[in-house]
Amino acid sequence: MEYIDNICFALVFITGITFFTKSIRKIIRNIRLGQSIERSDNQNIRLKNMLRIAFGQSKMVKKPIAGFLHLIVYIGFIVINIELLEIIIDGLFGTHRVFAFIGTPYNYLIGAFEVLAFLVLVAVVVFWVRRNVIKIKRFLSPEMKGWPKSDGNLILYFEIVLMLLFLTMNASDYLLQALGAPHYAKSEGIIGAFPISKTFIVPLLSSFDISSLIVVERLSWWLHIVGILVFLNYLYFSKHLHILLAFPNTYYGNIAPKGKFRNLESVTNEVKLMMDPDADPFATPDPAETTSDNVPDKFGASDVIDLNWVQLLNAYTCTECGRCTSECPANQTGKKLSPRKIMMDTRDRLEEVGKNIDKNGSFVPDGKQLLNDYISKEELWACTTCNACVEACPVSIDPLSIINEMRTYLVMEESAAPTDLNNMMSNIENNGAPWPFNQMDRLNWSNEK
Ligand code: SF4
Ligand code: SF4
Repeated sequence: MEYIDNICFALVFITGITFFTKSIRKIIRNIRLGQSIERSDNQNIRLKNMLRIAFGQSKMVKKPIAGFLHLIVYIGFIVINIELLEIIIDGLFGTHRVFAFIGTPYNYLIGAFEVLAFLVLVAVVVFWVRRNVIKIKRFLSPEMKGWPKSDGNLILYFEIVLMLLFLTMNASDYLLQALGAPHYAKSEGIIGAFPISKTFIVPLLSSFDISSLIVVERLSWWLHIVGILVFLNYLYFSKHLHILLAFPNTYYGNIAPKGKFRNLESVTNEVKLMMDPDADPFATPDPAETTSDNVPDKFGASDVIDLNWVQLLNAYTCTECGRCTSECPANQTGKKLSPRKIMMDTRDRLEEVGKNIDKNGSFVPDGKQLLNDYISKEELWACTTCNACVEACPVSIDPLSIINEMRTYLVMEESAAPTDLNNMMSNIENNGAPWPFNQMDRLNWSNEK
């Protein structure tokens, strides 16, 4: 009976971690459904990008208020989780504050955790007010209704509850130490420093006797650790996956200059053939030059499995912050396009494909695809390809690359470009310029008086 607490904790912990591992494996499996793309080059640049953008939050602070508050929550999340290690060891082995042996630095550490927990609480409350009271425009777009809105709030409630439990656990622990309760009290006196819980929560608990305080301490300890395990498993269903995926996403992000188009090798070869006066258009293609790399099954993308794995990683990493949409000129001028929705739709469709595979063992055509069922042609053709969304994204997501792939599919597989574009392409083909004038008339302007 003595070890029942520890056994229960081990079971809860293993269950939480097992489910979490299953979710991560599912995400990796889904991302691997994407086409291959080379992203193992320039490792130093990639590492610097990851450290600067994901770890250093360099793009977040471009919006100073949100950036600063996010920085607090981010640092709080990382630092307070050091405490988690102690909680896990205490839970498994029935110890009490196992790291207390480090002495005075331990007191500073616990004190710093408390201050951070308080700052996180303040930041989270401000975030909630920005979303629900001030109603900042980028949180109100049509794609942010329903689950995305609830998700944004739910995670804030989660964080508030976790921080309050952490502080309550500390407050009751402090009182138990001060009252000399067995297991809690140490010969060297009070261990840990509790500047926040002593100020705000200890006064509320000061009339409790030892047995009530133990109930409060155990309850907040258990709820805190179970809450963290639930939070971990909730990530899979939430935009908060970025907590983990921002790191690989910034590492594998596109480091080519913005606006540089990917060359389609098969098309380049075709054009070279057309331009070569010595080429024999009826020659049998050289099998050595006709590989699956330069002759794709399909041009562009109509569904998620036509996208590359980095684009699918992008979709899982999107934080739904809307910075891209608020910078998008098409969106600003009332067009239907929202780059955030492009990423959310890609993730939703990828999840649908993943569930299809879970159910059937391999993908069974479901009569749906990303194009039209999720993203309309109207949205795709509203894009000006300006790259503002790519520049604005705090975690190096590239919505434009998905738009371009889907446009490529529309043009090259379905010949479904808008009339204006078809006219322009015919003009380039016939006149060598986008305008409907004969090349012979190009210098007519010089004759004008
Ligand atoms: S590239 Fe397209 S989607 Fe991105 S900001 Fe510009 S117009 Fe909007
Ligand atoms: S693509 Fe980037 S900027 Fe746009 S909503 Fe997602 S995380 Fe935010």
